Amino acid sequence: MNSLLLASENPGKLSEILDLLADLPVEVVTPQTLGLRLQVVEDGQTYADNARRKALAFAHAGKMVALGDDSGLEVEALGGRPGIYSARFAPWEGATDADRRRYLLQQLQGRPQPEGVGGWPARFHCTVAVAAPSGEIRFAEGECPGVIISEERGTNGFGYDPVFYLPEYGQTMAELGMEVKNRISHRARAVQAAKPILIEMLGLD
Ligand code: IMP
Repeated sequence: MNSLLLASENPGKLSEILDLLADLPVEVVTPQTLGLRLQVVEDGQTYADNARRKALAFAHAGKMVALGDDSGLEVEALGGRPGIYSARFAPWEGATDADRRRYLLQQLQGRPQPEGVGGWPARFHCTVAVAAPSGEIRFAEGECPGVIISEERGTNGFGYDPVFYLPEYGQTMAELGMEVKNRISHRARAVQAAKPILIEMLGLD
């Protein structure tokens, strides 16, 4: 069976992507199963730049097709920040996901919310890159709109999920079951859009 390497060590992302790819006839491997430890510097100017770096680095090191993603939260009231800086959005060393959520809410305190929305409009973005050891690379994207609320709700997911509220579900991303998150999230949409690319690049039928 063909193999596909996931170019991430983030456990939250890995478990989502493994689930999303379960219907493809491919053996999905993680860096951990190969004993691969790579430090990819994510200082690109775009999601695609960073996703490309991760996918190419892992495709070369693992000698197989690799899927990398770069994602972020874009908040309208912050002019689209933190965006590609979402994983580092707290200006101190060793900040945790919980620190970043608190910092985000601090940044939003006192900023007006549009009438009737119940929070600050935002969206998650995800760009997926699929790279082959030859250097061939292709991209897919996905987005998920919602609003940031000022109280944390739910314990599923990771990152900003507990403050990212989806009005049409009446729940935050951290309250949704994995089954729902993996139908509607930015990453789910990007990975679904990447499937035809994977089928082609891995020669699957
Ligand atoms: P990166 O894609 O590894 O650069 O990380 C993106 C950062 O955006 C993560 O560390 C999270 O803080 C945030 N993020 C990306 N996707 C999600 C998600 O599905 N839920 C919550 N936070 C997310």
